Amino acid sequence: MKIGLEVHVALQTNTKLFCRCRNDAAEVNTAICPTCMGFPGSKPVLNGSALSIALGIAKALNCKTREKVSFIRKVYFYPDLPKSYQITQLDEPMGYDGGVEYGKRKVGIRRVQLEEDPARIIREEEYTLIDFNRSGVPLVEIVTEPEIVDPEDLRSFLFELESILYYLGIDIEKELKIDLNISLGRNRVEVKNVTGIRNLVDAARHEMERQKALLDSGKDVVAETRSYNEGKGVTEESREKESDEEYGYIYDPDLTEYSLTGVEFAKPLMAGKIAHDYAERYGANEDTLRELLMFNRDALRLLEHAKDRRSMKSIINAISLLRKYNGMEMDEDSFDQMAMLLEKGGYVGEETVKKLLSGGSIDINVEEVKVEDLDREILELINKNEGLIEEYEKNPKTFNFIVGEMMKKHKLNPRYIAERLGKLLEERRK
Ligand SMILES: [Zn+2]
Repeated sequence: MKIGLEVHVALQTNTKLFCRCRNDAAEVNTAICPTCMGFPGSKPVLNGSALSIALGIAKALNCKTREKVSFIRKVYFYPDLPKSYQITQLDEPMGYDGGVEYGKRKVGIRRVQLEEDPARIIREEEYTLIDFNRSGVPLVEIVTEPEIVDPEDLRSFLFELESILYYLGIDIEKELKIDLNISLGRNRVEVKNVTGIRNLVDAARHEMERQKALLDSGKDVVAETRSYNEGKGVTEESREKESDEEYGYIYDPDLTEYSLTGVEFAKPLMAGKIAHDYAERYGANEDTLRELLMFNRDALRLLEHAKDRRSMKSIINAISLLRKYNGMEMDEDSFDQMAMLLEKGGYVGEETVKKLLSGGSIDINVEEVKVEDLDREILELINKNEGLIEEYEKNPKTFNFIVGEMMKKHKLNPRYIAERLGKLLEERRK
């Protein structure tokens, strides 16, 4: 199975891509002008901030970029396009030949291009309405290589991609429209305009099953465009049929070539890459770190702050606890106290987190228990409770009993007690 994606990211710039109309007008057909309505004689002027965001996306996806970019007119006739062409990029996209790594997988990025969105079509039973507010809104199109192998792989890829966009400051809650190209056999089916990771994975899964059933019964899969019906969870034949042959392309004589030299762009910040670097440098668990950092700027903020002060283990532990008790917005100094307490083997529960969040400070003096004493007490407990070891072999939950007993005696972190207990049992076994 091969899945390739065309991802459309609407950029939240103040103004549209080639005119000064507002990008976020609420009332229909109020943010329009001769340029985005395609009146004769109007001239497009490129929005520099859209160019720089698009460049940031290309860089974040490890794409090669050119010194100069240009735009072309993609000509087709449709009600959403009053000037009968869409300004986009063809031979010289912003970025090309990139890739996204996630875990042990990598999917190539064929191209990242900047283009304008057509108007929004609202279909009613008997008529069709058009909202031109969306006409000319900047869009970045990301095209992957068809290297995603199954629906689960698709989920992982999308998770990574959304995390990258999130760290670039792109509001991924807003529409991220994705076209899926799926093929099991020779012919490729395109499922257009799916939004949301869950829908995308479901659409891919359904399409996989549908194509497999066709191929198994000796039939051919028709190369076509389909749409995803969210309510039914199936892909359906789409009314809108287009193919590449119907488009005409010409260079846009109104737009010159734009040099990318010196264009500033948002610096890519990637949870996956950061997790990888930290895992290498500090010996932390990459998967755990990646999970903590995805879609969480606070986790990154706290990690960056504490990385050279506290042990990576206590930092990860502290962030996990903050996530558990909804305390991610904690300030750096309080976080430091918490990580220090954990580092000393102290116990942090919901109360401690709440106290720190409300600006209070905590007692970071942990009861000092010598390791030898702790080990001796644990061994005493084991010896006192005959058959505990045998039971533990069958049911590791027996562990909790000893940890619980020890916590009655000392104000220690249960993880620390469990760690010592584990070591002692290990030694006994030898
Ligand atoms: Zn306009």
